[in-house]
Amino acid sequence: MLQQEKSTGLRAVVSATRLCQSVQASLVQEGVEGSGTQVKQDKSPVTLADFGAQALVSYVLNQDFPEFLMVGEENADELREDDTLRQRMMNEISRVEPMLLESVALTLIDRGSYEGGASGRHWVLDPIDGTKGFLRGDQYAIALGLIEDGEVIMGILGCPNLPRPDGGKGSIFVAAKGQGVQMYDTDGNSLGPAQVHAVESLTNANFCESVEKGHSSHSHSSQIAAKLGITQEPYRIDSQCKYAAVARGDATIYLRLPTKKGYQEKIWDHAAGVAVIEEAGGVVTDVYGKKLDFSKGRTLSDNTGVIVSNGQFHDQILVAVREVLGI
Ligand code: AMP
Ligand code: MG
Repeated sequence: MLQQEKSTGLRAVVSATRLCQSVQASLVQEGVEGSGTQVKQDKSPVTLADFGAQALVSYVLNQDFPEFLMVGEENADELREDDTLRQRMMNEISRVEPMLLESVALTLIDRGSYEGGASGRHWVLDPIDGTKGFLRGDQYAIALGLIEDGEVIMGILGCPNLPRPDGGKGSIFVAAKGQGVQMYDTDGNSLGPAQVHAVESLTNANFCESVEKGHSSHSHSSQIAAKLGITQEPYRIDSQCKYAAVARGDATIYLRLPTKKGYQEKIWDHAAGVAVIEEAGGVVTDVYGKKLDFSKGRTLSDNTGVIVSNGQFHDQILVAVREVLGI
């Protein structure tokens, strides 16, 4: 089951990873200025790689699933208006897929404009999750999920910079419902399974959280950690690499605590990560203990915040979360 989806999805993420690695290498060399960094109207930094990665994932999915539907973070409007940006993106794409035409690339990016919802199958893509980490030369992820009738049934999480226990760098986590999690290197070679790790007690646990204070409240997380008796410093990394960190035992808990009332988490920031955690033996809920509801369209409009754990102490963690947030 899902064999074709897994192999096509893995190929898509490997392809996008190549483009991202090439752009990030040039960012680091040139410095951020003058290397294609764009500032979106909402002021979040977005790069050529964001658009290029969405085009490449869409290109590969389209080869094997021509009818595919996709909720993707990007659309090509900005590229159509900006000749320089478009040209630079095509230069990057051509290093990975020399035959991909510009007009086709723009159409492929726009395949991500699906509204999502509760019925049927659709893919979910964050072409570069953690753009701030990407620009700093740090952690970022290429996150591809597959949703069927509102449930995440598969997730492929590419973490090109995540250090590996074998001394290498970069892992892709592939999770399909009922099939566990397999890790691959960034070329798609198998590295073996991933599973959450148990700890003896909460005092031996550690938690990870966003680098960005604006994305998750650091002051609340430190109060929650204190209540739980966790003494280890938080592991701060950008992107859905946090889900990967819990899934392979680098961290016990991932806290994403609302910083402003009414913020709706985007499904592309969580779909792949949720699949990876659930198949690695962990648990994901919101701050109220509710499952994340992917049936609501492009956002998780029925959830608030995200709490991830290896499953051992989830209820205890939720009690501390509620006390600290006063909910
Ligand atoms: P992270 O790397 O974990 O900090 O997450 C990056 C993601 O945070 C981006 O892809 C944004 O979609 C998302 N984001 C932006 N603003 C907020 C916010 N106020 N609260 C939570 N997440 C946010
Ligand atoms: Mg994101």
